[in-house]
Amino acid sequence: MNYLTKTIQGYIKPNQITKQQLNLISKGCSFVYNHFLNQRIECDKNKQKQPTKEQQERELVQLKANNSWLNQIYSQILKQVVRVRVADAWKKYREYKTINFKAKYPRLKTDNRWYDSFSYTQNNRSFGIENNQLFIKLGSAVEKNQRKLTIKLKLNQPIQGIIKTLTIAWKNNKWLVSFGCWIEPKQINKTGREIGIDRGVKKLFATSEGWKYTNPKYFQKGEEQLIKLQRELSRKKKGGKNYQEKKLELVQKHEKVSNRIKDRNHKLSRKIVDKFDLIGLEDLKSKEMTERKKDKKRKVNRSLAKSIIRACWYQLAQFLSYKVKETGKEVIVVNPKNTTQRCSQCGKLANPKIERDVEIYNCSCGLVLDRDVNATKNILYLAQNNRLGTLPTELV
Ligand SMILES: [Zn+2]
Repeated sequence: MNYLTKTIQGYIKPNQITKQQLNLISKGCSFVYNHFLNQRIECDKNKQKQPTKEQQERELVQLKANNSWLNQIYSQILKQVVRVRVADAWKKYREYKTINFKAKYPRLKTDNRWYDSFSYTQNNRSFGIENNQLFIKLGSAVEKNQRKLTIKLKLNQPIQGIIKTLTIAWKNNKWLVSFGCWIEPKQINKTGREIGIDRGVKKLFATSEGWKYTNPKYFQKGEEQLIKLQRELSRKKKGGKNYQEKKLELVQKHEKVSNRIKDRNHKLSRKIVDKFDLIGLEDLKSKEMTERKKDKKRKVNRSLAKSIIRACWYQLAQFLSYKVKETGKEVIVVNPKNTTQRCSQCGKLANPKIERDVEIYNCSCGLVLDRDVNATKNILYLAQNNRLGTLPTELV
């Protein structure tokens, strides 16, 4: 059975004592990270051979023996720091170095920039959920009857499948948790229906069935509030106390808005995947690239509002691609070239071109259709033909 990994997120509310423990774990991770990263940096400076992950992991035992406080931390966590985080940071540095010989060494963690997340990589009862609370195990240096730490937990959605991993992260003044769960792929009944979807010019998105999805009210309201906060922030003295406070307010507002959008995108993508067997989408990367070029040419700056819409749409597309995997249905990504310009009825290209402010596509063949809906019909056509491998060459 091929399992899928699904991430279930939430947050924990530690009390004063558990907070200290979590901070101690972060501090331990930083300490171990710095030690082994420094080792790599020193080797590099002295032109010595780099240690392997396994060597460093063995040396961790010695480091813990010399710094017994580290034994208060569950051993998996520190192993992961060495095996994954140090090794990854070094690998990234090496890769970057090949394109930029002036690349700097990865940064060490400082007291101000501690490790902001740590992971339990194997669920061998080292962590779990009991009575709606999260429990995590501490290391062997902690008294046996105090080794299990219980923390108030709030999940964004119920756990599915089997919990395999746990990551705890300090972000925006909150302790966030994400569980990596293994779930079995579902086979869902096919409906025989197919659809093309695209981000609209004014509305959030349009489909080949004609409906256009408007942005919900809170979306616009949240947007306005964000813009206001950003303006207020720009008036504050950078680095000052007021600035910090405003910044936090902005971050929290942003998080609130994006959580609502995320929630809605989850529901929406579920609905679409349930209804349709084939979903045609445009290749967002190449679309984004052409749009950036156009914006640059016209010298327009991206507004916050626009970037929120983009991010929101991008997320929806991601959720769709992800959700079909559980179902045996398909998302087909097509080249966005000319999808707006082509008539979905006769296939001719618009002459003169359809500009941004044109809302209706009018063709000499008699087609009169909303421009976005016309584009989604083309996307669906391309998706259907891409799947069959019968795409007419002039459209590729
Ligand atoms: Zn036409």
